[in-house]
Amino acid sequence: MLIDSYNLVKTRVQEALRRSGREEDVLILAVSKTRTVEEIRELYDAGVRDFGENYVQELMAKQPLLPSDIRWHMIGHLQRNKVKYIAPFIYMIHSVDTASLADTIEKEAAKCGRVIPVLIEVNVAGEESKYGVSPEEVPALAAQIGRLQHVSMKGLMTSAPLADDPEEVRPVFRKLRQIGVDMNLENVNNVRVDVLSMGMSNDFEVAVEEGAGCVRIGTTIFGPRDYSGR
Ligand SMILES: *Cc1c(COP(=O)(O)O)cnc(C)c1O
Repeated sequence: MLIDSYNLVKTRVQEALRRSGREEDVLILAVSKTRTVEEIRELYDAGVRDFGENYVQELMAKQPLLPSDIRWHMIGHLQRNKVKYIAPFIYMIHSVDTASLADTIEKEAAKCGRVIPVLIEVNVAGEESKYGVSPEEVPALAAQIGRLQHVSMKGLMTSAPLADDPEEVRPVFRKLRQIGVDMNLENVNNVRVDVLSMGMSNDFEVAVEEGAGCVRIGTTIFGPRDYSGR
């Protein structure tokens, strides 16, 4: 049962919280890219409501087939011309990395009469292959989002480099947390870093120890992904 793996993740998150003396809640996002509607429904029936998807097309195919109280999180790279499709229902966008994308979300959210919560994706480790702004670019983008009426700046997101030992990427999580602390000290209008979205299957316990408010878990809940049908 998928809920057993989900609950195991929950237990491991709670243990990491205890180790680090933290008392906040951590949101466990079930990353459902490549997974079927039936798999998502199984977790939904067991009480899970927050799901993360990477691809707009895939999300648009699944969303109408599933209950409307699911909180869908966009965690993958988002093209501006696709924002209009998800603006009516998306719960949070974790992957904002340009001012122009933020402006497009503003425009589409306004059309729907919504305020869409977003996170800024940060490429903490400066990897060539990854999306996200550099740590230095965060304050300017955050300030710009703070000026928008229909986009609400909630925090920061990162994906750590792949590592054999998750201890190797602890500095990446620590750095994201520090960027958030620094942002909050600046007291920019309408900008509060409340959520750090960090930690995936192979490194989420370290991320929780370093302050994650949301972990994004695919493989550990659903098993290995199969991309052959794509
Ligand atoms: C796929 C994905 C995840 C989940 O990865 P797992 O290693 O399967 O837990 C988390 N975040 C993002 C941005 C992803 O693309």
